[in-house]
Amino acid sequence: MSTAPVGVLGGTFDPVHNGHLRLAMEMATALNMAHVRLVPCARPPHRGAPTASPGQRAKWIRVAVSTEPRLRLDDRELLRDGPSYTVDTLASMRKDMPDTPLCLIMGRDVFAKLPQWHQWERIFDSAHIVLIDRPDIDATLDPEASTALAERAVDDVQALHDTLCGHIYTYTPPPLAISASYIRQLLAENQSPRYLLPMAVLDDIMDAGVYQPQPATAATQ
Ligand code: ATP
Repeated sequence: MSTAPVGVLGGTFDPVHNGHLRLAMEMATALNMAHVRLVPCARPPHRGAPTASPGQRAKWIRVAVSTEPRLRLDDRELLRDGPSYTVDTLASMRKDMPDTPLCLIMGRDVFAKLPQWHQWERIFDSAHIVLIDRPDIDATLDPEASTALAERAVDDVQALHDTLCGHIYTYTPPPLAISASYIRQLLAENQSPRYLLPMAVLDDIMDAGVYQPQPATAATQ
């Protein structure tokens, strides 16, 4: 295979933060990837609607990765109708990049429930999975996920370069205890999440007034 793999990090990114960005950089370096795409989902099938709009979430990712060529925004899920099924996203990327290995990056907690995803086994027709082991997360795998791991696990990064799809590679990055929900919580309590996310993203969040508590109405003052 002549082309280096492209990483795919899907998520809600409500908002993007340094945990996402550092994870993507770790992956790009450790797995020697061409670049990693951050792919915000329009309508997450497995959780409630995001607070920020699709346009805001995409804009913040664009701002956050603007000076790092190995990280990119891929907004294809925002441009199509219907639920954001990962299997469709990967099939569409496969069409765009027929000769490039694709590596779908996901936490062990997400992988544990993978068999609940729409047409989950077809994911391996388009991509490898890079399983992020987080020591803080102890997720018991669904039996079918466990079988897939046993059948598809590889120890050598080179396997992700030599084939287009179908393997599972496990990686344990240095943990960073940052989450979008913690950032939303701080903002809702009028506290600063500074240094948990890029300054330019935080500035835009503050300007737009997303996540902050609504001013009390005259009746409740
Ligand atoms: P929320 O707190 O709203 O659930 P989140 O911070 O986990 O959001 P997502 O958009 O759900 O962000 O995450 C996208 C992907 O990034 C997921 O695969 C998730 O496991 C991973 N991720 C998020 N935060 C971190 C982190 N601090 N370290 C490593 N991976 C992370």
